[in-house]
Parts: sequence; structure tokens; C-alpha cells
Amino acid sequence: MATYEFLCPRDGVITARLPVGRAPASLTCPECDDPARRLFSLPQVLTGDSRSRRIIAATEASASEPAVVTALPGRHRPPTRRPSADPRTAKLPAP
Ligand SMILES: [Zn+2]
Repeated sequence: MATYEFLCPRDGVITARLPVGRAPASLTCPECDDPARRLFSLPQVLTGDSRSRRIIAATEASASEPAVVTALPGRHRPPTRRPSADPRTAKLPAP
């Protein structure tokens, strides 16, 4: 599904969730039943820096896919380091 925008001359921009590639050239406005023509705009990808994009994506995903929490917020546990099964890793320099 993708969000498409249509412009009604009376009511302004209307958004509709439709299957990708299935948006019609115009849509009947749900408010006034006039035809609303499709608007073309840049997709909301690659805007902002990577940190902003991750925060926005996580916020949007949390609306329908809440994250599983394993600890109380605010309590930070240091990551546990597991020894590697490969003995060659012991010869590598420490970070
Ligand atoms: Zn309208």
C-alpha cells in the first residue's frame, strides 16, 4: 500500500491509501463528490540525515508494530561480550 495525494478544487488535498501502482488519475472527493486530480510529489525517502530517518521510521513503525521491550526504560545494561568459538579471533587487535 502507498499513500497517494489528490487535489480537490474545493476541499484541497485528499490522501488515499491504495495498492502501489494502482492509483487512478482522479478520485471522487469524499466531501463534495467532485473529481480530484492526482498530485505527484517526491516520495518521502532520503530526506534528512540518517539519524532523523531512523527516528521517523521507528516512530511510524511503532504505530502498528510496537517494539518488544526486554528492560525498563532508562536502565542501561552494558552489552555482554561472548567469547568467539573461532580461536583465530584471539589474535586480532582489541578495539
Ligand atoms: Zn471536494
